[in-house]
Amino acid sequence: METYEGKKYYRIRVPVFWLSVICVVLLIFGAYFKDELYEKWLRSGGMEDVTFEGLTSALEDKGSCYLCGSSDHSLVDVFRKSGRIGVISLNDWYVLEFHIKSRDESIPATEQGYRTFTSGNTGEVTYSSEGSYSGKMASIEVTLPEDFRLKTEVMENHLCQNCLDKVAESLDFRKWKHEKKEAIPLCLIDFETLEIYSLQDWHKGCLIRDYWVEIEHEGDKVSADVYDVAE
Ligand SMILES: [Zn+2]
Repeated sequence: METYEGKKYYRIRVPVFWLSVICVVLLIFGAYFKDELYEKWLRSGGMEDVTFEGLTSALEDKGSCYLCGSSDHSLVDVFRKSGRIGVISLNDWYVLEFHIKSRDESIPATEQGYRTFTSGNTGEVTYSSEGSYSGKMASIEVTLPEDFRLKTEVMENHLCQNCLDKVAESLDFRKWKHEKKEAIPLCLIDFETLEIYSLQDWHKGCLIRDYWVEIEHEGDKVSADVYDVAE
């Protein structure tokens, strides 16, 4: 530091000065275009498919399969009779049923429960489920935890190989190679046929028998609306 006419000055070498100026300009530029630069970087690696092929069932007794067997720990068996459709939270195998009018005419309207609203927290996800008064439309909304991650061991330990393959196939998704993205630990199920349908973010809707399903993803929320389109 030098003093000249009572004022203080730093002595700085010309290249160092210009280097500092360039650094500051780059920082401002970087901050301003941060999102665009990040997006560019994400896309630079191209896309990749994430699949869960090759999961191996560790279930010894096929009869206790959570999907096709009869296990006290799975509600699939209970809901099978209703012929409705539902959602499965795969990390804790929590099974939700759409509150829609059952195809089973022998169940009286008072026991159908399609006019009810339920909500709760399974320990893995929070959900709400409701049905319209007519029983022709129902919706389920699931909120995933911020850092959700699919626990494949739950599926491997409790599903037979056939069911494991079905569920695993529904979990396929695409992402940017550099992107941090996890499989959504949810799927749709048809209780009548035990077919599994995807709830990953690329899937916007499908027809399951004569139920039309519309799927929406927003942040950590996944919601599905079901319309009974039977004549
Ligand atoms: Zn099975």
